[in-house]
Amino acid sequence: GTDDRISRISSSIRVIPDFPKPGILFQDITTLLLDPKAFKDTIDLFVERYKDKNINVVAGVEARGFIFGPPIALAIGAKFVPMRKPKKLPEYSLEYGTDKMEMHVGAVQPGERAIVVDDLIATGGTLNAAIRLLERVGVTVVECACVIELPELKGRDKLGNKPLFVLVSSA
Ligand code: AMP
Repeated sequence: GTDDRISRISSSIRVIPDFPKPGILFQDITTLLLDPKAFKDTIDLFVERYKDKNINVVAGVEARGFIFGPPIALAIGAKFVPMRKPKKLPEYSLEYGTDKMEMHVGAVQPGERAIVVDDLIATGGTLNAAIRLLERVGVTVVECACVIELPELKGRDKLGNKPLFVLVSSA
């Protein structure tokens, strides 16, 4: 069942104290990727949620949204659009926010329906920048999807009224 899948996913994530600096509990999803069942369950849970929602765009946030986004996009028949950190794109990029994100002009069209995917939401600044950038070009952001939420940081509040779907909450 869903609960079994969630607990397998949760226990496959390695937690590294004091990385990259003291006091931070780094949630390392590379160990999830080493467990093919946990990785598949992760993708399946997102696909089950989004397959019948007329999603055209899966926007994946650099860097670990580039791991989870593409298999979701393929399974639901959507395009994958990388949302990049500044200055990585060769040309025609737009950027937004203090946590800057960029994407190619022309990657998306007004009226398309997107989900934004990342491995983890902490303060919500990254997802907020991605949402604002997509909305600025007329895309409807239906929901944000993350494997992990750090609820104590209240990142959800930074997403305004935008729904957030997460698989695992971490203290
Ligand atoms: P934020 O913009 O504060 O929500 O930070 C989210 C981004 O930073 C995501 O792309 C995460 O991959 C990364 N991140 C922030 N905190 C952590 C953490 N404790 N463990 C792993 N990644 C993190």
